[in-house]
Amino acid sequence: MSKKNSRKILLLPGDGIGPEVVSEVKKILNWFNSKKSLDFSFEEELIGGASIDVNKIPITDEVFYKSLESDAVILGACGGPKWDNLEFSKKPERALLKLRKELKLFANLRPAICFKQLVDSSTLKPEIVSGLDIMIVRELTGGIYFGEPRGIKPIENNQRQGINTHSYTTNEIHRIAKVAFDLAKKRKNKVTSCEKSNVMEAGVLWREEVQVIKDKEYKSVELNHMLADNCAMQLLRNPKQFDVILADNLFGDMLSDEAAMLTGSLGLLPSASLGAKDKNGKIRSLYEPVHGSAPDIANKNLANPIATILSLSMALRYSLDLDKEADQLDAAVQQVLDDGLRTKDILSKGKKEVTTTEMGDAIISKLK
Ligand code: NAD
Repeated sequence: MSKKNSRKILLLPGDGIGPEVVSEVKKILNWFNSKKSLDFSFEEELIGGASIDVNKIPITDEVFYKSLESDAVILGACGGPKWDNLEFSKKPERALLKLRKELKLFANLRPAICFKQLVDSSTLKPEIVSGLDIMIVRELTGGIYFGEPRGIKPIENNQRQGINTHSYTTNEIHRIAKVAFDLAKKRKNKVTSCEKSNVMEAGVLWREEVQVIKDKEYKSVELNHMLADNCAMQLLRNPKQFDVILADNLFGDMLSDEAAMLTGSLGLLPSASLGAKDKNGKIRSLYEPVHGSAPDIANKNLANPIATILSLSMALRYSLDLDKEADQLDAAVQQVLDDGLRTKDILSKGKKEVTTTEMGDAIISKLK
C-alpha cells in the first residue's frame, strides 16, 4: 500500500508520568502507521527534568530546533520534586515557557467535555454537565502577564507598590478572534467573547475589535459579548449554553480552569497551543495534557493516558488535517469508557480498573 500522508511529529515525554502517557500515544501512532497507511515519522527527545539530568538544561537548542521543524509537538509533562530546589530560571518548567514563547503560541485551546459515562465525577448535577462540550480559546502571549510597566517598587511612607499592565493591540485581538471564529465554524457556530468592558478600556477595545472581525469576515457565526465575571457564573449555572468561549490571557486562564473542573478529572483533559502560520502556511503547535507530571503515581502504571491521547486527537484535527482519524480516536475513547474500563483516578463502583498500558491497548482495540 502506498504511504500518502507523511507527517513529522516530535514527542517530548518529559518527567513523572509523562513517559508513561506518551508511550500510549506512540502505540497509537504505530497503529495508524501500520493499519491506515499513514506515515507518521516520530522522534522522541528529552525535555524538563529529564533533560536537566543529561544536558544540565531543560531544553537543548537541538530539541528546540526539532520542534520548529515538526508538524506537531506532543508533550507529556515537566517537573517534579527532584528539581524543585533549582532556581527559577533553571527549573524544568522553563522549557515549556521557552517553547510557548519561541514558537509564538498565542492561542490556547482547552476543550471542556463531560463524557456521559463519567458524569458522576463532576461536582455539578448530572443534568447540568452531561454532554457538555465547550471550547475555551485563551489568548496566551499578551495582556497583563506580559504588559509593561511591571514590577514592585518602593513608594513614600515605607510602602511598596506592585504594578502590572493590561494591554492589547488591535492585531493581537484580531488574530485570536479569528482562531475562535474558525473553530466555531467547525462546531456549533457560536462564540461568546468575554472581557470587562464595564470597567476596563482594554476591555472596551477587545469587545469592539472582536465585533469588527465578526462583521467583516464571519457574518454567519453567532457572536455574544459577556462580562467575564458573568461568564464565570454562567459556567456553573448553565454551561451548556456555550460553544466557543473567547477570552484574554488573564480571564481565559481562570475560565478554562473553572470549565475544566466541570468535567471532573484532570486525567481526561487535553489542550492545544497554536501559533501564527509560517510562510508555508504551517501553523506551529504544541499539544499536551492539562495535568502535570503527577510524581505521586509516576512509574506505577496507574496514570490515565486519555488526556494525552485526546491531545493527539487534537493534533490530528488542528495540525495534521486528519479529521477522520481524530473522530475515530475520539470514538474509540468513548467506547472504552462505555465498556466500563477506568484507570484508578476515574474508578467508580461497578467499573473495571485498568492500568495505563491496558487503557492504551483497549483504545487501540476499538480503533480496529
Ligand atoms: P499534577 O497535575 O501533576 O497532579 C495533581 C493530582 O492529579 C495528583 O494527585 C496526580 O496524581 C493526579 N493526576 C494528574 N494527572 C493524572 C493522570 N493522568 N492520571 C491520574 N491521576 C493524575 O499537579 P501537581 O501535583 O501540582 O504538579 C506536579 C508537578 O507537575 C510539578 O512539578 C508541577 O510544576 C508540574 N506541572 C507541570 C505541568 C506541565 O508540564 N504542563 C503542568 C502542571 C504541573
